[in-house]
Amino acid sequence: KEIVRAENLWKVYPDGTKALRGVSFSVGKGEFVGVMGPSGSGKSTLLHLVGGLDKPTEGEVLLFGKSLSGMGEDELAQFRKRKVAYIFQFYYLLEDFNVLENLLIIGELLDIKDTEEKALRILDFLRLSHRLKHKPYQLSGGEQQRVAIGRALISEPALILADEPTGNIDWEEGRKIFELFKKLNEEEGITFIVATHNPDLKPFFHRIVSLKDGEVVA
Ligand code: ADP
Ligand code: ADP
Repeated sequence: KEIVRAENLWKVYPDGTKALRGVSFSVGKGEFVGVMGPSGSGKSTLLHLVGGLDKPTEGEVLLFGKSLSGMGEDELAQFRKRKVAYIFQFYYLLEDFNVLENLLIIGELLDIKDTEEKALRILDFLRLSHRLKHKPYQLSGGEQQRVAIGRALISEPALILADEPTGNIDWEEGRKIFELFKKLNEEEGITFIVATHNPDLKPFFHRIVSLKDGEVVA
């Protein structure tokens, strides 16, 4: 079953930069797909378009068989909240709130049931149970990224888009993050699209979309 389809995506930024030049690909349910390519090749732009965070100049994105361009703002917002989760290189945690609260607040915003129970279970899975009352600044980079993953999991998304999720953490912690992703992929059936420029991460992926200068080269 197809979860994502990108058709002839072009993205031209206002300054004339052609970040994507006719990108097409599709991702099936349960896949663990890498988007790879050097810095500036268009990986972030592509993930933004797939997640509905930005609009293509030309072409279209279908998520779960529905065209994003045909959706109104409300429908798009619902999609972003409930079906798709985004994990960024920088964690964007709420600095004034502790680990548990960072998840609870999202649960409340999205009006999710049994948030506390869910949050505790997720944080246990992420091996953060001993850090519930810690604030983000008291955590290592890898731990902060695991909190961000926990926040993404609260809405029980079918698709997770991760943009250089290990870009700011060392190799050992990064590998742990990828192992958690794989576990979520295999055990929960969550589909992943992960952008990275790090070739060492290649072995984790089922399939790789290679970008160069805004085009798919492999
Ligand atoms: P990657 O994630 O592979 O590093 P990006 O998608 O961030 O690539 O960037 C692709 C190209 O688009 C680069 O040349 C980058 O400088 C340019 N770019 C990205 N965002 C913007 C923007 N908001 N305005 C203008 N150019 C941008
Ligand atoms: P890394 O090298 O991965 O960034 P750190 O050296 O920052 O790791 O942290 C190592 C351990 O110490 C982590 O488990 C982290 O939670 C803990 N730690 C770091 N800073 C603080 C702090 N200010 N208060 C409490 N624990 C901390």
